[in-house]
Amino acid sequence: MNIDEALQAIKSSPECFVTFRQDTGEIREVKNLTSEASAEDRMARLFAATSVPSGVPTVSRFLESASVTAESLNDLVEETRRAYESMTARVKIINGWRYQSLSELVAILELGDFPYPTTQNDSYLLLEIIFDVRDTELNPALIRRLLAVADSQHIDIPGEPSVGSLRLYLWRYEMKTTTFVQYWHEHLRGGVVPFLIGPSTFAGDLRVADQIIINDLIGLVRAQWPFGVKQRAMIALGKIGPPAGSEAARAIREEVYDSTDWIIAQRDRVLARIETVPGLWCDCNHCRRGKVTEDSSDILILRDCPRCYGLGLIPSFC
Ligand SMILES: [Zn+2]
Repeated sequence: MNIDEALQAIKSSPECFVTFRQDTGEIREVKNLTSEASAEDRMARLFAATSVPSGVPTVSRFLESASVTAESLNDLVEETRRAYESMTARVKIINGWRYQSLSELVAILELGDFPYPTTQNDSYLLLEIIFDVRDTELNPALIRRLLAVADSQHIDIPGEPSVGSLRLYLWRYEMKTTTFVQYWHEHLRGGVVPFLIGPSTFAGDLRVADQIIINDLIGLVRAQWPFGVKQRAMIALGKIGPPAGSEAARAIREEVYDSTDWIIAQRDRVLARIETVPGLWCDCNHCRRGKVTEDSSDILILRDCPRCYGLGLIPSFC
């Protein structure tokens, strides 16, 4: 609908829910709402059948009709279109990182020069691509450059451990388990739970058998945080295997309930790994450390491998 038609529809009720087509900004639908309506009526109205065909990218906003003018509507159309342009440009650049030379990717980190509209906040994706997707292409010269970046702390990410994610990736790549354990003891021990999600992954990948770290991972499994936190700690304990011990198995049995088929199978696989001898397990040849790339997504997403449930190891009895 054009701006005049949309404005007329909007003005016929005090509030409305307006749906814009994301790529063009065009207004596709106006759902009128009255402020006196009960919560149920409002929900019924919002979830009523839409006239927008599925597959069309849309974004919707609540608007108070009194404050809407032709000019403000035009601004929203323009803003919607520009936001979409910026988002698709970002996705295109990030997808391109999967095929650019690693030397060019390292240069982005060295210079801190992220091509617009990507930003420093996308460095976690860059690190995933370098270390989780394309690590077999790394060579000593690239590692030297990455170590220099870690030393210069160009990519300190707010909320990340003070040592920086890059340093943790490098320790994992170089299997510097002792350094990692020492770092955990000094800086992370008993730390605030969400803060440990990233490091937990590295503890699992390095198969750290240190009791303090294992106890912290068990603490994460038992902590009252979103399930994703427990799940990452559970996978880490599964990667560690028998050294995680009976206390880890008990915590997992008590904390990870029968929810989806996937969660049940993942939990049971982790328990089998902790409770059987390491000789029964071999590397999964379908993934990198339990992660596979999600091909159906527009942007790079790493998910737990469907064959090994994220452990990176397959039991000979399966
Ligand atoms: Zn796998």
